[in-house]
Amino acid sequence: MIFPSYNKRMSRLKIVWPTLVLLPLAFLFSQGGGSITQQYKETADKLIAAALADHDGYNKLAYLCDRIGHRLSGSPALEQAVIWSAAQMKRDGLENVVTPAVKVPHWVRGRENAEITAPVKRRLTMLALGGSVATPSQGITAEVVPVGSFDELQKAGRAKIAGKIVLFNVPYEGYGKTVQYRGVGASRAAALGAVAMLLRSVGSLTQQTPHTGMMMYLPDAPKVPAAAITAEDALMIQRLSDSGDKVTVHLFMEAHMEPDADSANVIGEIRGREKPEEIVVMGGHLDSWDVGQGAQDNGSGCIASLQAVALIKKLGLRPRRTLRVVFFTNEENGLAGGRAYRDWVGARVNNHVAAIEMDGGAEKPLGFGFGMAPGPQSERALAKAREIGRLLKSIGADSMTPGGGGGDISPVMEAAVPGFGMNTVGVHYFDWHHTPADTIDKIKPEEFQQNIAALAVLSYVLADMPDRLVE
Ligand SMILES: [Zn+2]
Repeated sequence: MIFPSYNKRMSRLKIVWPTLVLLPLAFLFSQGGGSITQQYKETADKLIAAALADHDGYNKLAYLCDRIGHRLSGSPALEQAVIWSAAQMKRDGLENVVTPAVKVPHWVRGRENAEITAPVKRRLTMLALGGSVATPSQGITAEVVPVGSFDELQKAGRAKIAGKIVLFNVPYEGYGKTVQYRGVGASRAAALGAVAMLLRSVGSLTQQTPHTGMMMYLPDAPKVPAAAITAEDALMIQRLSDSGDKVTVHLFMEAHMEPDADSANVIGEIRGREKPEEIVVMGGHLDSWDVGQGAQDNGSGCIASLQAVALIKKLGLRPRRTLRVVFFTNEENGLAGGRAYRDWVGARVNNHVAAIEMDGGAEKPLGFGFGMAPGPQSERALAKAREIGRLLKSIGADSMTPGGGGGDISPVMEAAVPGFGMNTVGVHYFDWHHTPADTIDKIKPEEFQQNIAALAVLSYVLADMPDRLVE
């Protein structure tokens, strides 16, 4: 009896033994001692220290915001921003600075106003939605029918909607969920005979602030004017209506499309020292809505990307691969810049090791979302990305979560390039997004520095590590 029992114990030990040997390695690997984390710890700490001491980045962002201002596609300010950005990249020592031409949609807001005319007279704070058509020159005066959802709209039906202005008074339940009313609300209302659409701004309930943004017309409905009003004004109309009064609004808008305009992406790089043909591309979008300063959305993403690379350069680092910064044009109302970049690189898209985008504002960074088609390759790539992420633990930006990317880099991600999107705490971003309040004072210098640090470390290591992120 003793032998079988002994043998059993031995065989168990044989299984346990290699596990015990491997455990410390696996432990190190998962606890921050993995080869990428170890190899780049010193460099990452230098980059982080440089970013946290940097004021130059914030000063550049202040120039863009205060001296150039908001930058809608087709505006003279966007063209000025393109010229300034290319010059700035050259001043920062980037190589191969180019501004390939991109044709962009040119929507113009014009004059606009809205007011409640009955049962009380009250001026409304409004912004036409991007892409909207104008009202007739005398404006539109009509009864407002508030609805809380598409279901309510359908239930009301043509009998209650025809000839009226529909107000989508939809509470904000997160951007991804609520933005559909901005996107297609006008067409859904017009399909039932509505003459215009008002939208409770897609954003948190704060400060009587209207939020603009892109809308589109569906092919099967008449094009009617569409505008955002503030959440506060939407709630007032709802209360007046609920009390049994007929609420009428006068709406006047000159919004219209003009022929496509000339714009450009702005591109600069640090050429790789060993594999210059392999690319890590990083950036944000230079255009903005035509209100505020386009500070959080998305001057911050452009300038943080530039400053990250400027600091890499300043520290005398030249990665193995080419590190490229792109300020994309026309993200907000067309994505022409992102698509033009994809066309510009052509077959060289296969040489793209990774794409990084910061377009969620510059609040305190948490880390990155990693986007790639699921499979064993993406599991391995995510594990490597997490090793890089650990280098950002000292600034609390070490999270690396599955799923991420950005609008501008989506065309290259569709060509199987792995994408990273900066994630922040996002506490206030949707208070300011697409509003007159998106100004640089909302960006805390120390949080902007942390964003620069996170971009510098991620982009440098991706560009320098011996193996490609995805083999
Ligand atoms: Zn944006």
